Amino acid sequence: MAHKDFWLNALKRLQPTIKKAHFITWFQNTSVIDKKENKLIIGVPTSFAKDWIVNKYTVKIEQAVKELDPTVSEIEFEVCSRLSDKGSNEGVNVKKLLVDSGDTKKVRKNRKSNEITVTKGITKEKIQSQLLNDRYQLDNFVIGVDNRLPHAAATAVSNTPGGIYNPFYIYGSVGLGKTHLVQAIGNEIIRNFPEMVVKYITAERFVTEVVEAIGKRHMHKFKEQYRNVDVFLIDDVQFFARKHSSQQEFFHTFNALYDNNKQIILTSDRPPSELDDLDDRLKSRFGMGMVVELLKPDFETRVAILKQKCTEFETLIDPEVLEFIANNVTDSVRGLEGVLRQAIAESELAQRVPTIKSVAEIIKKLNKAQEIIGYDIENKRNARIVKNSIDIMNIVAEYYDITVDDLIGKDRHKEIMMPRQICMYLIKNELGESYEKIGHGFGGRNHTTVMHACNKLSKQLKKDVRLVRDINSIKREMGL
Ligand code: ADP
Ligand code: MG
Repeated sequence: MAHKDFWLNALKRLQPTIKKAHFITWFQNTSVIDKKENKLIIGVPTSFAKDWIVNKYTVKIEQAVKELDPTVSEIEFEVCSRLSDKGSNEGVNVKKLLVDSGDTKKVRKNRKSNEITVTKGITKEKIQSQLLNDRYQLDNFVIGVDNRLPHAAATAVSNTPGGIYNPFYIYGSVGLGKTHLVQAIGNEIIRNFPEMVVKYITAERFVTEVVEAIGKRHMHKFKEQYRNVDVFLIDDVQFFARKHSSQQEFFHTFNALYDNNKQIILTSDRPPSELDDLDDRLKSRFGMGMVVELLKPDFETRVAILKQKCTEFETLIDPEVLEFIANNVTDSVRGLEGVLRQAIAESELAQRVPTIKSVAEIIKKLNKAQEIIGYDIENKRNARIVKNSIDIMNIVAEYYDITVDDLIGKDRHKEIMMPRQICMYLIKNELGESYEKIGHGFGGRNHTTVMHACNKLSKQLKKDVRLVRDINSIKREMGL
């Protein structure tokens, strides 16, 4: 069997044992590089993915491989960067594998209206629902000390909808993960119980629909929609305040579903008792089942969330920079994510890795009043002033304990080559010198050599966390 087919078959066996989102994240573009005697070498596009796969999935992979070929006794993983090259079809496209195996959701996305049509069993009754975002899953919701209970309850509800946690009420201030959690439950239930009809709607949208239905005298049709719902997710119910006809309608919907043991999940920015301007009968119903609060995550959890988001965005960022963000953005997870996104966007545009200085500036830009902890924007600490390429060469040479002559010279050993490339990259990106001029400064090298070095380094910065750290430390010496 060809290597690729072998690996494809192994992945087909692995796939049902691993959550879909994880399967795609970690196994996309993997391949079997070599298989001889009893040894199998699996190629993985990044060192990050390699670490993850080795830690989490070695046993499962061994099982799947041995089922196919019991003679394999040793499995090795190797980082193989060409696998992530666009246009390379050496690695397995696991997304396609999932589609081919029919593991696509039982929902059809209608992009235009941002709605999905869920078809229920053989009766083919259709129901409109706002789109559930695939990005929100229970297993990418980072669990910290303070949100263990909400997560555990969400998991329980996903496993037994309509059980004891009904209704399930999640509250917390803005940007702490309410929408994430409620949609994750929806996604999980669709996976666990494909025959169930899951409807997600924001309270705001519900109000609009009630108003429309009244205007068009469609109230009957409106009510009909909810007749077949098994799981009803309603986001931000504080929005019902003072909207009396919507409250009344919602009250009927709630009762009809509840009486039929259908699962209801609600979110809000405050506990039921504090929902002013809401009918008492609704308030008391909201508090009837399980009520949980999402709290602000502590420092460790904030760092863990940032790391998780880096994985999702497929970016490597210096852990020290992540800790700096976590130290300075404490209010909401949305705020954390905002700074991270901005840092990634800027670094992609400018081809630079985010540094403490660059994220400090982003945080300051987003919130002028904020005091920055751990970095003085005005004073560049003890940083040296970098005026030209010679200054950069001196700093890099010192950092790697080599000489400037080594950098300029012809030595092709890795210990010299790497700093040389880093040096070229920094001169290009920080001083904006032309490839030609840089080549000249490095003993008359050709501009294509310099260009190649810079491109290679940019690529490597996406995979090599040590390199990211080194460049950050060097930049800090440069006051960047
Ligand atoms: P809310 O609805 O409470 O205002 P969201 O659910 O929209 O907040 O969350 C804001 C962002 O923060 C989302 O991108 C979400 O994925 C992320 N987020 C919040 N809490 C967590 C968590 N514990 N783990 C991972 N991501 C989180
Ligand atoms: Mg929300």
